[in-house]
Amino acid sequence: MPDVVIIGAGPAGIFAALTLLEEGVSDILLVDRGRDIEQRECPARKNQQGCVHCTPCALLTGWGGAGAFSDGKLTLTTEVGGFLGELIPTVELQELIRLADAKYLKYGAPETVHGGSNRAVRRLKALARKAEMELIEMEVRHLGTENCYRVLQRMRQDLDGRVEIHTETRVTQIQAERGVVQGVHTEAGEFIPARYVISAPGRIGADWIRDETRRLGLEAIPSPVDIGLRVELPAAVMEEITATTYESKLIYYSRTFDDKVRTFCMNPYGEVVSEYVGDIMTVNGHSYAEKKTDNTNFALLVSTLFTEPFDDPIAYGRYISRLANLLGRGVIVQRLGDLADGRRSTPARIARSSVKPTLESATPGDLSFVLPYRYIKDITEMLAALDQIAPGVNSRHTLLYGVEVKFYSHRIEVDRNMETRIGNLFAVGDGAGVTRGLIQASVSGMLAGRAIARNTRKPRKRSPRKSPKVQR
Ligand SMILES: Cc1cc2nc3c(=O)[nH]c(=O)nc-3n(C[C@H](O)[C@H](O)[C@H](O)COP(=O)(O)OP(=O)(O)OC[C@H]3O[C@@H](n4cnc5c(N)ncnc54)[C@H](O)[C@@H]3O)c2cc1C
Repeated sequence: MPDVVIIGAGPAGIFAALTLLEEGVSDILLVDRGRDIEQRECPARKNQQGCVHCTPCALLTGWGGAGAFSDGKLTLTTEVGGFLGELIPTVELQELIRLADAKYLKYGAPETVHGGSNRAVRRLKALARKAEMELIEMEVRHLGTENCYRVLQRMRQDLDGRVEIHTETRVTQIQAERGVVQGVHTEAGEFIPARYVISAPGRIGADWIRDETRRLGLEAIPSPVDIGLRVELPAAVMEEITATTYESKLIYYSRTFDDKVRTFCMNPYGEVVSEYVGDIMTVNGHSYAEKKTDNTNFALLVSTLFTEPFDDPIAYGRYISRLANLLGRGVIVQRLGDLADGRRSTPARIARSSVKPTLESATPGDLSFVLPYRYIKDITEMLAALDQIAPGVNSRHTLLYGVEVKFYSHRIEVDRNMETRIGNLFAVGDGAGVTRGLIQASVSGMLAGRAIARNTRKPRKRSPRKSPKVQR
């Protein structure tokens, strides 16, 4: 019987395991429904063909979690990437971010840090303010898609033999009795008893954990859905911004609707990619540390929270994405000039664009058939504002890909140690709805690991549980 079962080998689960070991807890079982890192291969990425709908998705599940093939941008600030700042003091969170970053460095992350607060950043911040935007000052460590994978591989090697790791093992149920966790049930019909359970199933596990929290009687509140477009333009247009900050987080409140619009996931010299979230295709972007394109891409996202009578932002986001997939048979691309002039982009018009699309499989079309007027207005107003600090952004040649949607899990009620109201059950990472990025997900795992280590050092109280047994 392991002391701790961790559900999910994404950054939250991995950092929980690393911390538990460091703190002297060694009886750990880490399970993931996806494959081990070496066996994770997404056919769509490998062959540049469409998604073949692997079950489970090789891109989002398995050792390393959703970010294994990602760009690996570690945003070293308390201001983005999650809500841990609402649970612990900012100074403490900043220190934990520093420690998590140090771990990424230990496993091979590059030394270079971009951005921070320097003269060039302050100048850019002033320019942004003049254009009615707020630039968040932050440091970013860019792993790059190839390094991200290597770092996760090294973490796997380091944990090998010290933590029991079961991949291709899906947890179906968390068992609790009289308010205390007892263990987990797997798809294979096995019951694994454990003193502590850390749930870290990521966004891919959002629906499952939402149902589990309901069944266990835990409080969970809906999170907003972020809907928008990915923008692609010549790297030279964004050069001053990306050279100064690498990943710039700019926030704008739209004139017409007063909606919050923000830049997200900026990829200098990167490429636009399509990705599957369940059965829908959305757009994303990444950049390699070494391989460069001529373009920069970033998303412009608008957050929407529904309250009543409709309170299902995930369903709304899926609906919009499905519409894009229906009309474009996948991702749609449109020139900004065509959108402004109320006409669709055609292959001939895209070919005349001075920006060559890096996602060649995108279908030239008309995004105004997909996105509600509110989103189009919010985004075009922000593009106009951005043009004031990076002339050329609002060019008719700028490419817009749609749609980009970010779903967030329902937010589970946890305390500052990431413990739920069920004793010894911890909920961490994106699956708990408390984080939205690699660094905060990692920190949340560290918090749970530390709390469990503290508890195990206390003398054990008599357990109300029945003697553990494995049921098949
Ligand atoms: C394409 C892409 C690019 C990204 N780029 C960045 C970036 O540059 N910077 C950044 O900060 N963030 C980025 N992110 C977000 C980042 O990857 C996530 O915030 C982070 O991975 C969350 O970590 P996690 O451990 O909470 O969940 P995940 O990484 O999603 O891991 C959860 C794991 O749990 C497993 N699991 C789920 N359900 C079960 C179950 N029932 N039983 C067993 N196992 C289960 C899954 O298989 C998965 O491996 C990106 C995400 C994507 C998809």
